[in-house]
Amino acid sequence: MTLGNAFDRQVGSQRVRGMSESVIREMTREAHRHDAINLSQGIPDEDETPASVKQAARDAIDASSQYTITWGLPALREAVAERYADWKGVEYDPETEVTVTCGTSEAIMSSLLALCDPGDGVVYFEPTYESYIPGVQFAEGRPIPLDITDGLAVEGEALRAAASDASILILNHPQNPTGKVFTPAELELLAEVAVEEDLIVITDEIYEHIVYADHYRSPVTVDGLAERTVVCTGMSKTYSVTGWRVGFALAPEPLSAELRKFHDYTSICAPTPFQQAGVEALSLPDSYYRDLSDSYERRREQLYDGLRSVGLDPVKPDGAYYMLTRYPTDEPDTEFTLRLIREAGVAAVPGSSFYTDGGEDWVRFTFSRNEDTIDRAIRRLDENRFWVQ
Ligand code: GLN
Repeated sequence: MTLGNAFDRQVGSQRVRGMSESVIREMTREAHRHDAINLSQGIPDEDETPASVKQAARDAIDASSQYTITWGLPALREAVAERYADWKGVEYDPETEVTVTCGTSEAIMSSLLALCDPGDGVVYFEPTYESYIPGVQFAEGRPIPLDITDGLAVEGEALRAAASDASILILNHPQNPTGKVFTPAELELLAEVAVEEDLIVITDEIYEHIVYADHYRSPVTVDGLAERTVVCTGMSKTYSVTGWRVGFALAPEPLSAELRKFHDYTSICAPTPFQQAGVEALSLPDSYYRDLSDSYERRREQLYDGLRSVGLDPVKPDGAYYMLTRYPTDEPDTEFTLRLIREAGVAAVPGSSFYTDGGEDWVRFTFSRNEDTIDRAIRRLDENRFWVQ
């Protein structure tokens, strides 16, 4: 039975009005519908998760399937504080400054809802990961996108102008979809401006262990940033467990105390067995992280060479596992993407979904899939090159 509309008024709140669903996830559904190889949403293949981490989750279901306390399993918060002290050079108190969330997206959303007042300006770099745009709208903030498409570089004057009217800066580092790794000089500039303008910084560092550029540096190691930053990260990409929904928010106590209010009343807690498995994940040796980056670096080369060989024009990223790619037709990116899915059997994401007001004709492919899947995708593209006359 389909129920009609019982109301003669608009039922969506202003918070959701005009908002459309995630284009990234829509492309995954479109891929399923057309049996396309999915290089759209950044999802790894199933066999990428370390076996010991999966086993720990299985064992944990028998042992503990009830709520943890709302901030997260104490053993996991302690493991996070310990490992991140090595990785970021900053000590976070596991009791008051580490919160386990339902994925990094929740960490970002809880931070925005707790720290942004209606009308507050929120600066982010475009192209941007799509969920910051609805995140700012949910918080009734004022989006201040700063376009860095040309040259992928942060320019002091433009940043200062944008920040002069802002309260919050969102920094995705490495950045999705461009793979940009901000240079130490850019991070220092960001810190300087954040201090000058008294900004709260929300970093999304979910790709912190998928980095190919030597110049990578964690933002909170830059003077002035740790004390005003919420670091949002999590297990999804590092351990290839995107469906487990375990994220971390690391922030000074005054910021943590606020974001915990949203987390508490919306999520109660992240899934207990997967938090338990997180303790195992965080005990993996350093070599695990090197191997992870090396393995994605090989796939980066594979996808880059493959896309060039079929007449597309990809840009090699410095981090994360996405490849921004230009194509040689005049079609809008959405149309080109739908044809890719339906006619070539390979799914990507249209570039315009990474901009607040649309823009730019390019598409994003992911190399989160294994070598065999990428190989099959390239073969399909090769056999169905509708973009080459
Ligand atoms: N971060 C992943 C991506 O950009 C998946 C997240 C999502 O479902 N939007 O593809």
